[in-house]
Amino acid sequence: MQRAQNILKSTFGYENFRHHQADIITALIDGNDVLTLMPTGGGKSICYQIPALIRAGCGIVISPLIALMQDQVDAMTQLGIRAAFLNSTLSPSAQRDIEAQLLAGELDLLYLAPERLLNSATLSLLDRTEIALFAIDEAHCVSQWGHDFRKEYQQLCMLHERFPAVPRIALTATADARTRSEIIEQLALDHASLFVNSFDRPNIHYAISESGNSREELWRFIEENHPDDAGIIYCQTRKSVDTISQWLNTKGRTALPYHAGLGQESRQENQQRFLREDGLIIVATIAFGMGIDKPDVRFVAHMNLPKNIEAYYQETGRAGRDGKPADAWMSYGLRDVVGLRLFTENSDAEEKFKRVMHQKTDAMLGLCELTSCRRIALLTYFGETTNQPCGNCDNCMNPPQTWDATIATQKALSCVYRTGERYGAQYVIDVLTGKSSERIERSSHDKLSTFDIGHEHTAIEWRGIFRQLIAHGYLATDAEGYGVLKLTQKAWPLLKKSETPQTVMLRGLHKAKVKKKKL
Ligand code: ADP
Ligand code: ZN
Repeated sequence: MQRAQNILKSTFGYENFRHHQADIITALIDGNDVLTLMPTGGGKSICYQIPALIRAGCGIVISPLIALMQDQVDAMTQLGIRAAFLNSTLSPSAQRDIEAQLLAGELDLLYLAPERLLNSATLSLLDRTEIALFAIDEAHCVSQWGHDFRKEYQQLCMLHERFPAVPRIALTATADARTRSEIIEQLALDHASLFVNSFDRPNIHYAISESGNSREELWRFIEENHPDDAGIIYCQTRKSVDTISQWLNTKGRTALPYHAGLGQESRQENQQRFLREDGLIIVATIAFGMGIDKPDVRFVAHMNLPKNIEAYYQETGRAGRDGKPADAWMSYGLRDVVGLRLFTENSDAEEKFKRVMHQKTDAMLGLCELTSCRRIALLTYFGETTNQPCGNCDNCMNPPQTWDATIATQKALSCVYRTGERYGAQYVIDVLTGKSSERIERSSHDKLSTFDIGHEHTAIEWRGIFRQLIAHGYLATDAEGYGVLKLTQKAWPLLKKSETPQTVMLRGLHKAKVKKKKL
């Protein structure tokens, strides 16, 4: 272990190991398999780099990030580590050179994409090579639930059959229990030592709001908090990436777009500029970010609801890797929720898979709608127990007003029920607020007992109430995505007055004057 300590100092220039680094390194040097879950910026690379330097042979690093291999190898080379990568961006003769170096024992680390590793020529090359260890980076790519799924990752279990004496380390910054057990199962890591770091990123300030005009709010947030800082803005569609990046440029900020429609070359160029220049904003779809190592990203903004909490955590985790204060800011709308549900429903996935996806959307929405500490909820989601409010999230710093919305909820639910669970929020709100129309009259909904019983709130306030009732699971939107509201199991006790009374507390409404009125 003294050797590891020496290398940490002489090669990397660090005094002490962080977190579980020392234990992980010892386990690998001793020839054991390891699974490590560490947040982005936690220091995963050293966990396999140092053992690869200490054990005889070359460490093979499996990574899906071909675009970043050059940078990773350059960084290693600067430290005096003999590193290389093999992929199709190299000329055939350059590839042959590297293969020769590998066979001659002249490499400490070799980076490969999984598809390259699995090809039979590479495997037979490795058969003839002394291998120090296999490092399976971004191991969550084995998970079919995640958006980084790579089917080749699922074949990596063959490594331990073909090279039983070579220790393996799987690394990821994704930590929910389901992904973790999938990694263990798919990569046959049941005997591996497990090292789980706290996923808390105390320097990140979390703020989430539901918004009508998120672009203006985004601008206010950037102008007030990050007038010159580098940041990432995530948008759902390529089109919104383009419009928002152009718009920020008109506001005087340098903002670069990044999405799959841009072509490899300009994507690469924008990414490089973002990494190398100061104070740039990248506006991107989720295609951007995996493996990006820019320590001074001061904010990550989401213009839509991310697909699930894992994605939110991973994307926001790209802020503040240097440990200095950073912001995770999100503005989302009800449309996003409907959009995500629709996306899942329209996919040709199995029912079981869709159910999990819906649950994940609901959990994400739950985090947004929360009125208590966001960090506690986030860490709890990842299986960490903590109940100390963090003091560094919007809810801790400005506790949201809540109000007893039981009566409003009963009115809303019974109006959905009386109109036959066949309409979207807008129609139901028109009935509630007594806004007659030809359509309403045709269905005689102006004769319903619930017609105009909700006039104490404006239509805008009702929208907020319905959104929260969906978030809290009292109402669901139809699977086809037309926005038709349906009552859920959870709604019935509120409709049937005989049941034990139940209160519904909701987030305060903007400009709402809440008059109490009996149903
Ligand atoms: P990850 O892959 O987990 O996101 P990295 O391996 O890129 O993280 O490490 C993040 C940063 O922390 C890097 O700049 C790395 O050099 C630095 N780092 C890693 N281990 C230590 C340590 N023991 N002491 C100080 N800095 C460290
Ligand atoms: Zn908090």
